[in-house]
Amino acid sequence: MKIRAVEPLILHMPLTRDAIADSTHRITHWGVVGVRLTTTDGREGFGFTGTHADLASDRLIAACIGACYAPLLVGEDAHEGARLARKLARAPALQWVGRAGITQLALAAVDVALWDLRAKAAGVPLWALLGGPVRERLPAYDTDVGWLSFSADELVARCRHAVEADGFRGVKVKVGHDDPAVDLARLEAVRRAIGPAPTLAIDGNGRWDLPTCKRFCARAEAFDVFWFEEPMWYDDVASHAALARATAIPIALGEQLYTIDAFQSFLDAGAVHWVQPDVTRLAGVTEFLQVADAAHARRLPVAPHAGDMSQVHVHLAYAHPAAALLEYIPWIRAHFVEPIRVERGEFLRPQQPGAGMTPTPDALVRFARPLG
Ligand code: MG
Repeated sequence: MKIRAVEPLILHMPLTRDAIADSTHRITHWGVVGVRLTTTDGREGFGFTGTHADLASDRLIAACIGACYAPLLVGEDAHEGARLARKLARAPALQWVGRAGITQLALAAVDVALWDLRAKAAGVPLWALLGGPVRERLPAYDTDVGWLSFSADELVARCRHAVEADGFRGVKVKVGHDDPAVDLARLEAVRRAIGPAPTLAIDGNGRWDLPTCKRFCARAEAFDVFWFEEPMWYDDVASHAALARATAIPIALGEQLYTIDAFQSFLDAGAVHWVQPDVTRLAGVTEFLQVADAAHARRLPVAPHAGDMSQVHVHLAYAHPAAALLEYIPWIRAHFVEPIRVERGEFLRPQQPGAGMTPTPDALVRFARPLG
């Protein structure tokens, strides 16, 4: 299964609603930026990272794939997964300029595409190639009901609908206003609306500092918060360790971490309780599994961040024993050959061969952006 062609792709898929915002970002499209690998025997493998659809930086990722990774891939046998993963992750020139940021996002896309190829060649879904399934059911929690840009009334109505009508057993609400009292009032209203049973997680997207988080958590504990995600700056191990010691609310993080070494620092410091690796930001499937194994060895649960909007992560979660639940944001699923499906708050297990990252022919044309 020799690789014949490496074709970078930029797709900008519109959200299924108007622009949304958290404490740090405001977006209208999801950037599906990655690669199509074609083999000499006619197979196609797709892999993507996830971005906020900023064309200038998306072009850097695509250029990195085309200029830096393509020469390392053409002519290689895609079956030689472990050797290829090491070749790509340890390429001397890329190690020098990379290990995070553009090069790592590009590498993630390439690695997922290689796994997609291998799963398709084996004729099985990726979860089966990885030895799964390890569970019968995979619970989903709904993030799309909790944006900071929603009014309090809209937030409460959407959370109640997710729980009462759609059957979700958990929702996630964004926090991070200038005045944390606003967030406390929104949390209280949501908890009152959904009742005591559903899980209620919150996500700060890195906005606040340690003093703000400590004061906020002392009052938020009354609402039985399931986890506080990215309360502070993404790389700040010491502050997260201090917050973990100060509050009963579990700490969740990982969506902005690029390496297993970064995860190890948080794990060693006792600074994280829910581990949230993202296969589209780590060095692909291989490093995702390393992070999940590291969490599992500490008896900590994994809740993958859905930078792929769960297309690949549903496979990984069905294949890894530490993965306890998965984020649900249904913006782009309609544009893939096998869309993720959630029924009564649970992800259905994918059935088609591959990693779930093959866009529909229509999506490949309709959402394509020029590479330069
Ligand atoms: Mg988050």
